[in-house]
Amino acid sequence: MFNPFSRFGFARVKRNEETCISCGKCARVCPMAIPVDRVRQVTAARCTSCLDCVDSCPELRAGALTWGPPARFGRNWPQAVLIGVMLAVVGSAVAASYLFPLPSYVHERGQKPAMVAAVDMKVSDLTCRGRATLFTEFFLYRDDELALPGYLRVEAWPGPGLADARVIYDPA
Ligand code: SF4
Ligand code: SF4
Repeated sequence: MFNPFSRFGFARVKRNEETCISCGKCARVCPMAIPVDRVRQVTAARCTSCLDCVDSCPELRAGALTWGPPARFGRNWPQAVLIGVMLAVVGSAVAASYLFPLPSYVHERGQKPAMVAAVDMKVSDLTCRGRATLFTEFFLYRDDELALPGYLRVEAWPGPGLADARVIYDPA
């Protein structure tokens, strides 16, 4: 959730070396053990934007520690705007996961042919990746008329109740 904020620096913590008195409080309170007192900007991906470091700084008024987006986006975004952006990003991600659900289990065998066919199923007891693997092996290692030779791709969305699964195969 916080990755875009760490990666693109929308909530980046910055230290002003001119006004910092090197008390080290920011580094001591950081739950991610980031040496905030020794960097000009916190760029570590493990920063969770908790802002404990900013809260602890005794030289906040002097601007020793600030946070916000990079200069090219304008540094002085109100906190409410950042929270709004954060909620919009998370909301979009959740909506996208419902609208375009990616399978959480995929197994593919062989070279995909030009034409494929697919069967969508509702499968009971397909509750985890281990069971999805068993489900796949049901197709891979059987030797009766239901055996599927050649290309095979199993996509599954393991979960409680009836889980979705899609078997994609070479109709030829
Ligand atoms: S925002 Fe939190 S995690 Fe990031 S450097 Fe400051 S105290 Fe550490
Ligand atoms: S808490 Fe503030 S003044 Fe102290 S080292 Fe960190 S940035 Fe500097």
